Amino acid sequence: MENSINSHSNRWRTLFALWALLALSLPASAAWQAGVARVDITPTEPIWLAGFGFRTHPFDGVRQHSFVKALALQDDQGNRTVLITSDLLGFPRSVSDPIAARVEKQFGLPRERLLLNSSHTHSAPVIGNMLLPAYPIGDPELAVIQRYTRWLEDQVVEMIGRSLHDLKPADLSFEQGLAGVAVNRRRVGHRDYPGPVDQDVPVIAVRGADGSLRAIVFGYACHNTVLNDYQVAGDWAGYAQAALEKAHPEAMAMFIQDCGADANPLPRHTAELAEGYGKSIAAATEEVLNGKMRPLHGPLSAAFVRVDIAFEPPPSRQELQSRLSSTNEYIRRNAKLLLQRLERDGKLPDHYPYPIEVWQFGKDLTFIALGGEVVVDYSLRFKRQYGFDNVWVAGYSNDVFAYIPSRRVLLEGGYEGGDAMLVYGQPAHFTWTVEETIAEKVDEVVKRLRAQ
Ligand SMILES: [Zn+2]
Repeated sequence: MENSINSHSNRWRTLFALWALLALSLPASAAWQAGVARVDITPTEPIWLAGFGFRTHPFDGVRQHSFVKALALQDDQGNRTVLITSDLLGFPRSVSDPIAARVEKQFGLPRERLLLNSSHTHSAPVIGNMLLPAYPIGDPELAVIQRYTRWLEDQVVEMIGRSLHDLKPADLSFEQGLAGVAVNRRRVGHRDYPGPVDQDVPVIAVRGADGSLRAIVFGYACHNTVLNDYQVAGDWAGYAQAALEKAHPEAMAMFIQDCGADANPLPRHTAELAEGYGKSIAAATEEVLNGKMRPLHGPLSAAFVRVDIAFEPPPSRQELQSRLSSTNEYIRRNAKLLLQRLERDGKLPDHYPYPIEVWQFGKDLTFIALGGEVVVDYSLRFKRQYGFDNVWVAGYSNDVFAYIPSRRVLLEGGYEGGDAMLVYGQPAHFTWTVEETIAEKVDEVVKRLRAQ
């Protein structure tokens, strides 16, 4: 009898062990489906490279091919969502809006389920109307930019279609590492300034049903400004993606630029440094991939809103006309652009409709994607508010049209809240309410999504 009881409980123990083994080897969130696609956007026609005002001619070589990449996700409720990353300076609204409209029409993807981020590489073509007063260019160069932009829009829409066609069972997981590449660049020339940086390396791993890696989504908050010559390149983020794809040939590496508006990789300006920083960020990502990652569950709920952020009063027509004879070329070009707008609209805008997109992955991750060049204070603020372990704050998303200074940065002064507005063609600085206006709207959206 005793023996029989023992053999009975042994059988149960074996069955339980088998069940546990099976449960562990199954993907933790098999309800996901994921699809990936990419398109090579390396320009062929001579075109101006974006981000620096001192360049005097179009690109004359290719250091690295540049790409736009798509990750399509479908959660267990059938919601489809697409993340776009790119080796571009930024998607201005004049480019992202037409793409989003076509994607909604062709694939039924609502605006809040498309997110366009850019690495902010300063070695990619100028697109749309972004940062135009920064460059000494005329109509012939603008015609090339318009032609390339239209071609790019077609390529991105077609690629999104391919990513949706590629959907198959997948498993998502998340964790973060750290890397010490970013330096708060406002301390250059202002040793006394505080030097906050966000050195987190958030990573989402997308694995297929067989456990193999299909996509590696990784973020960091730092300008891609190591390279400043005439070669097309993804800068350090391009090298980081290339290193990860070399180590994982079966996977696509996608870089997300976080709130790195006031961070630079320092020192700069050689290809060796760009490659070295890329390898550092790739190594930090590898550490996360090789460690224990937390499963990401659905459903994936999403919101996209615009909130008006206020400008200081704009300059008068008379003031703008006097600026046309300024010795500063950026002031002259900004004045010319604003006078055209004044002519067209009868007035200059007193606010900008600021895009905020939030994705909530079940109870596991809140992904906040902000428009513009966002300074680090926003990232640290939202992580403090909502949690450092389960919050990802991206900048450079959906519309890059200005720097987004915090209250602190506005009070301190300097480029990010000041002269940068000129080269972006904006009429005036943002008022000191900008941070609170954005934070209040983010809070409203995050609370709503988290409550669902
Ligand atoms: Zn920038």
